[in-house]
Amino acid sequence: MAAPDFPEDPAQFRACVREQLRREYAEFVAGRPAAEDPHGLALRRAWEDRLCAAGLAGLGWPRRYGGHELDLARQAIFHEEHAECGAPLGVNLIGHGILAPTLIHYGTEAQKQRFLPGILSNREIWCQGYSEPQAGSDLAAVRTRARRDGQGYVLNGHKIWTSFADQADWCFVLARTDPAQQRHRGLSFLLVNMRQPGVRVQPIRQITGDAEFCEVFFEDARVEAEALVGEENQGWKIAMSAASFERGTYFIPRLVKFRRELMWVRELLRERAGGLAAADGAELERRWARLAVDSHVLDLKSRRALAAAATGEPPGPQASSTKIHWSEAHQSLLDFAVELLGDRVCTGDAQRDPQAAELVRAYLSSRAETILAGTSEIQRNIIAERVLGLPKGVQP
Ligand SMILES: Cc1cc2nc3c(=O)[nH]c(=O)nc-3n(C[C@H](O)[C@H](O)[C@H](O)COP(=O)(O)OP(=O)(O)OC[C@H]3O[C@@H](n4cnc5c(N)ncnc54)[C@H](O)[C@@H]3O)c2cc1C
Repeated sequence: MAAPDFPEDPAQFRACVREQLRREYAEFVAGRPAAEDPHGLALRRAWEDRLCAAGLAGLGWPRRYGGHELDLARQAIFHEEHAECGAPLGVNLIGHGILAPTLIHYGTEAQKQRFLPGILSNREIWCQGYSEPQAGSDLAAVRTRARRDGQGYVLNGHKIWTSFADQADWCFVLARTDPAQQRHRGLSFLLVNMRQPGVRVQPIRQITGDAEFCEVFFEDARVEAEALVGEENQGWKIAMSAASFERGTYFIPRLVKFRRELMWVRELLRERAGGLAAADGAELERRWARLAVDSHVLDLKSRRALAAAATGEPPGPQASSTKIHWSEAHQSLLDFAVELLGDRVCTGDAQRDPQAAELVRAYLSSRAETILAGTSEIQRNIIAERVLGLPKGVQP
């Protein structure tokens, strides 16, 4: 389907995408089985496929690659309206949000021609192969080895926590191409076909019951020479800058969700209020008010990041402050929700008590939020060193 033309004016743009997203999502839900798990990967993939088929992808990409060249302000509005209509995040988030902008920035024309259409149509799903059992926070310790072999590379190693690896057709991998060079110097950024002999994927079951991330074993997997992005041994710079492409929009759906959950907790509080002593009620009210302030401040921080990104300012340590604030406030909010739910934590299933089921699920999955994309300790180190100017800690 041809990409729709969007209004330039932000208010008109919002009205336009709101109408389109709500209509598309209502039709989509009406066509799905009533008892389907709203978090299931099949549903998330089908919705993402539908968005792509409707031309609602490639928002910031250049037009020559099928994108809309939307400015960041309108991209942010789109993400906000998408979350507001209740639609789930897709399964190719890493393809759309990280790999595509990386290729547009660093890829060869041949790489763009080969890979961008598969992302735009959602035909090819991507995952990110950085972390390893001994290289998480200390990513420069990556051991996965890509050895030159004729025209390409042979890949051996073990990645872990690779989100969507069991769904993925391709993985961008940080691998060591020169073991003689120290740490981040000998690493390259490679595009690896997941559908080949020599790639083994082992899903990891999480506390929510889902298996969204996996272990990935590369055992003599082949990587073509054309699949090297940028220069050999210069992959660190690309991997670091890939992480910054989502800057400005990453938190938007998460903050919409925070606001929605905050209102649910408000309702729970109202239900509980009658049975409480005045002092206890006031303390719970104060606790809720603090979370409402968090929600508002996070919203302001997200707008500030967006404004800075729109002027081309390089990402700074403010992102670490927002990451800590969001992940820790979100955990506090869900701790509170679970306390107020009481017995409904055990009895609320998705059919009979969907709100309780949703909050319990969010509570369980929020445990990962202080770990993914850089743990709270690592974010505090960044703030300590780059904002407060404290001396660097000793590397573990
Ligand atoms: C839901 C989820 C999805 C993920 N998806 C992906 C993905 O798609 N691709 C991918 O490559 N990775 C992914 N990750 C991995 C993620 O990036 C790592 O979990 C994270 O970087 C932490 O690394 P680690 O788990 O190895 O912990 P470690 O680095 O081993 O840390 C263990 C503990 O030690 C602390 N610590 C470590 N170093 C220091 C230090 N210098 N100072 C103070 N404390 C320290 C940490 O804060 C942590 O508490 C995902 C993780 C999660 C939870």
